[in-house]
Amino acid sequence: MRVLIIGSGGREHALARAIAASPLLSKLYVAPGNPGTAACAENVPLRGSDIAGLVAFAVEQKIGLVIPGPEAPLVAGIADALAAVGIACCGPGAAAAQLEGSKEFTKEIADAAGIPTAAWASFTHAGEAHEYIEAVGAPIVIKADGLAAGKGVVVAATPEEAHEAVTAIMEDMVHGAAGAKVVIEQCLVGEEISVFALCDGLDALYLGVAADHKRVGEGDTGPNTGGMGAISPPPWAPPAVIEETMARVIRPALAEMVKRGMPFRGFLFAGLMVEHDGPKLIEFNVRFGDPECETLLPLLDSDLLPALAAAAGGRLKNVALRWKDGASATVVMCAKGYPGAYATGGEIYGLEEAGALPGVNVFHAGTMADQGGILANGGRVLAVNAVGADLEQAVARAYAAVDTIEWDDGFCRRDIGRRAIFAAAF
Ligand code: ATP
Repeated sequence: MRVLIIGSGGREHALARAIAASPLLSKLYVAPGNPGTAACAENVPLRGSDIAGLVAFAVEQKIGLVIPGPEAPLVAGIADALAAVGIACCGPGAAAAQLEGSKEFTKEIADAAGIPTAAWASFTHAGEAHEYIEAVGAPIVIKADGLAAGKGVVVAATPEEAHEAVTAIMEDMVHGAAGAKVVIEQCLVGEEISVFALCDGLDALYLGVAADHKRVGEGDTGPNTGGMGAISPPPWAPPAVIEETMARVIRPALAEMVKRGMPFRGFLFAGLMVEHDGPKLIEFNVRFGDPECETLLPLLDSDLLPALAAAAGGRLKNVALRWKDGASATVVMCAKGYPGAYATGGEIYGLEEAGALPGVNVFHAGTMADQGGILANGGRVLAVNAVGADLEQAVARAYAAVDTIEWDDGFCRRDIGRRAIFAAAF
C-alpha cells in the first residue's frame, strides 16, 4: 500500500515511524514532513492547506491511504475531496470535522446522544451573553465557538472576568469570525484526561489515554501552548474511567453522527474532566493529539497500518491492537521565547546519542536540515519520548535524553509527569 501522511510535526514523525516497518507498506510519503520523517519516508513539498495539490499528488502517485495529522485539512474537506477521486482517508469529512470546528455542534451532539458534559448555552448577541452571566454567576467558562488555536477559552473565576471575555470575543472580535458566537459552560472540577479512539464510522478501537501539559511554565503557569509534554497512563484514569468513556462518550457520539448522516472516521480525541462521579466531555478533536501521539504510539506492539486502513475503509470490527505494559512520557523542547517570539536557526547536537538511550524516541517537530546538521526552525522543536516499566522510569529516561541534547536556544518544562507520579504514590 502507498501511503501519504499530511503534516510536519512530532505527531507526523511518530505516525511515520509507526507504519514505516509495516509489511503492508510499499511506499511512504509525508507532506511536507520534517528532517525526522525524511529518515523513514520521502518528504513532499506540499502544505496541508494545499488541498487541490495534495489530492492531485495522491492521484498521480496512486496513493492507497491518506493520513492527515492536523485538523486544518480535515476541516477544509480533504477527506471529501479524496473520496470524490476514490482514495481512502483516515480522517473525517468536513461535516463530521465540525466536532472540532464548532463547540456548539459538539455540545448539541453531546446532548442528543446523552453524553455527560457541562451544562451550556450559546449566544450570538453579546447583550444576551452578558445577561446570562449575571443570572448564573461564576466560576464559568466562556468559549469562542470556532477554532481559535487554543486561545478561545476563558475559565472565569469572577463575573467580571466572564464579562471581559465576552467583550473581547464578541465585541472586540479578538479571534475574528470564530467569536461570532460564544458557548458559555458550567465550570467542571477534577483532573483532565485525553482519550483516543480510532473510528470507522460505527466501531471504535481504544488507542490510549494521556494527560498533557498545556501551559508553558512549571506548575502549570504562564500562557497556553500547543503542548509542552504528555504522559500515559495518568493515574487518575483507571480502567473503569476508560470503559465509561468508551461506553458513554465515544460510542454514543459515533452513533449520533451516523444518525445525522455524517459518520466519523479517523482519530477521535475526547478531552474529558474526571469528576467525582465520572468523566465529563469537555471537547472533541478530530485528530491525534501532539504530543499525545508521540506518547502513545511508542507503547504500541502491533502493526498500526492495517488498523488505519480498516478505519478508513469501515472495516474496524475485527481489528485488535496489542499494547506494551508500562508507561510513556514525552518532553517537548521549545525555542526560548515560545509561545511568544523566538529565534530560529540554532544548531542542535546529540540527537543520535539521545535516540540510542534505552526506551527513548526522539521525534522532530520544528527542525530543518542544514549541511548534515539539524537546526531549530519552529517554536516546538523536538518531542523527546521514553517508555519505561512505570511512569517514574519513563520520565527519568525522557529527561536523560533531553540532557544529552545540546541546543543553546532551547528550553523545556522540568516537571512533566511530576504531578502524576506524586498522585500515583498515594
Ligand atoms: P480553541 O478552540 O481555542 O483551540 P480548545 O479547543 O483548546 O480551544 P477546550 O478544549 O474546549 O478549547 O478548552 C480548553 C481548556 O479549557 C480545557 O483543556 C480545560 O482546561 C478548560 N475548560 C474548557 N471547558 C471547561 C469546563 N467546562 N470546565 C472547566 N474547564 C474547562
